[in-house]
Amino acid sequence: MRDAGETFIFPDMTKKQLASATLAMRRKLGARVVLTDDASLEAASFDSSRIAVRPAAVIRPTKREQIGVLLKMANKIGVPVTPRGRGTTLMGSAVPIQGGWVLDLMGLDTIRIDPEAGLAHVQAGANVGAIQDAAAGQGWFYPPDPSSKQYCTIGGNIACNAGGMHGGKYGVTRDFVVALKGYLPTGEFVEWGTATRKFAAGFNLRDLWIGSEGMLGVITDAVLRLIPQPAARWTLLTSFADEVSAFRAARALFAARVQPAICEFLDRYSVQCAEQAMKTTIFPGQPGRPVILIELAGSEAELADAKKAVLAWAEANAAGHREAQTRAEAETLWAVRRKCSGAMFQMGDAKLNEDITVPLGAYEDFAVWLEQLRAKSGLAIPTFGHLADGNLHVNIMYHKAVAKECRAAEKAVLALMKKVVALGGAISGEHGIGLAKTPFLRLQHNAAQIGAMQAVKHALDPKGILNPGKMFEVVEVWKAPRVVASFPWDHK
Ligand SMILES: Cc1cc2nc3c(=O)[nH]c(=O)nc-3n(C[C@H](O)[C@H](O)[C@H](O)COP(=O)(O)OP(=O)(O)OC[C@H]3O[C@@H](n4cnc5c(N)ncnc54)[C@H](O)[C@@H]3O)c2cc1C
Repeated sequence: MRDAGETFIFPDMTKKQLASATLAMRRKLGARVVLTDDASLEAASFDSSRIAVRPAAVIRPTKREQIGVLLKMANKIGVPVTPRGRGTTLMGSAVPIQGGWVLDLMGLDTIRIDPEAGLAHVQAGANVGAIQDAAAGQGWFYPPDPSSKQYCTIGGNIACNAGGMHGGKYGVTRDFVVALKGYLPTGEFVEWGTATRKFAAGFNLRDLWIGSEGMLGVITDAVLRLIPQPAARWTLLTSFADEVSAFRAARALFAARVQPAICEFLDRYSVQCAEQAMKTTIFPGQPGRPVILIELAGSEAELADAKKAVLAWAEANAAGHREAQTRAEAETLWAVRRKCSGAMFQMGDAKLNEDITVPLGAYEDFAVWLEQLRAKSGLAIPTFGHLADGNLHVNIMYHKAVAKECRAAEKAVLALMKKVVALGGAISGEHGIGLAKTPFLRLQHNAAQIGAMQAVKHALDPKGILNPGKMFEVVEVWKAPRVVASFPWDHK
């Protein structure tokens, strides 16, 4: 692994002042909470974007109150503080781009299920997969399921408003947050909502924190809404002659008011990658065709009617369909979806994993345009995604050592962002802005919209100490210092 980039110093602060502030913080909170050893600084210097800047210290609180102490001192002296969960964000949003202190929330990780109220009381550092398992143990279901759920924290999910495969039917993280506790950037403790499902007392600042990417407050605790575990599941794989037919068919499915729990699209390039990695053909006789994978979930009675509707739809719209007869067979089909993203590295050693959204009505136009982009850029651009909420992962593959391909990838991503905005979609459906998407924020928002966001930021964080340098300041990410690192979640 290469060394992380030099620590940047916050505008009015010298290295000496930062070192003495860190020492003072250490005296206050203790050497077990304020870490300055090489390994801790290195590990907190980057996230999954691999952009790297070394902090001066990593603060790993064991008690919630320590965060208030930290933020008050950071404001007094002017030290940047970057909150961090597990660092799985692909956008560089957890990188301490202006140095200072990283606030690592992983130590606050309790989970308590209230089976009567159907609520989960969790701390920010709790792992999302562990929350789902704890809920399932009591017959409850927490649907938001980013593919990184085995690793990422609920605090990171709330800060990014994470989505996943269940978004179309159940919603995203925002739809399950009942209440939050935490600290304002200035260090005061606040509670947004209570453990009741209804709360209309005052401005809804809970929702302002959701998706604020660690820039408007530090989340310490959350109350999450749970739903009953579905009693039964049913999986169907459908194939199509081409991408346009697949998208058209998806619209017909939703128009028939069928609400699959999961409805995943893989274009022919994604299917080819998965087939090569798994050394199998998904539909014998029909290799490399685009597919839609559907899962229905509910009671046996609900499933019976929905199954009939989906099978009739498949007969009328798909080139082929295959029903999983057992849970094990269903798992084999879902393995295709899980393997496709990692398998794309056959097509290049670098990937721009975009998470755009496109309105349902523009699906076919987008498919045609994407094929033109492939031809024009000369790059492989395998695409898959969550059809019911229009959230597509467009993966621009290139080779890092080939300058021509790097330039083509840079141009292709700009063209993609312009296109989705023109179609009425979004430059990000679930990953957020961080550092990687700052050059495109102005395509999505006009000056008044950005001004309003900056005014909110300034009102809550007048000294600009919480996760500075993100969202509004355009970063040339292609030139940012990087580390060569591998993660346990690579190729998932
Ligand atoms: C293999 C892989 C698959 C992924 N799949 C999905 C997916 O399907 N859907 C999806 O939405 N995302 C996905 N992601 C992106 C990422 O996992 C999510 O954004 C996740 O929410 C980040 O959680 P984290 O704990 O790793 O947070 P971090 O990466 O540590 O931080 C992310 C942001 O949240 C802020 N933050 C973290 N904790 C707090 C807190 N307690 N208070 C305030 N701010 C905080 C940070 O400052 C930063 O801005 C994937 C990433 C990978 C690597």
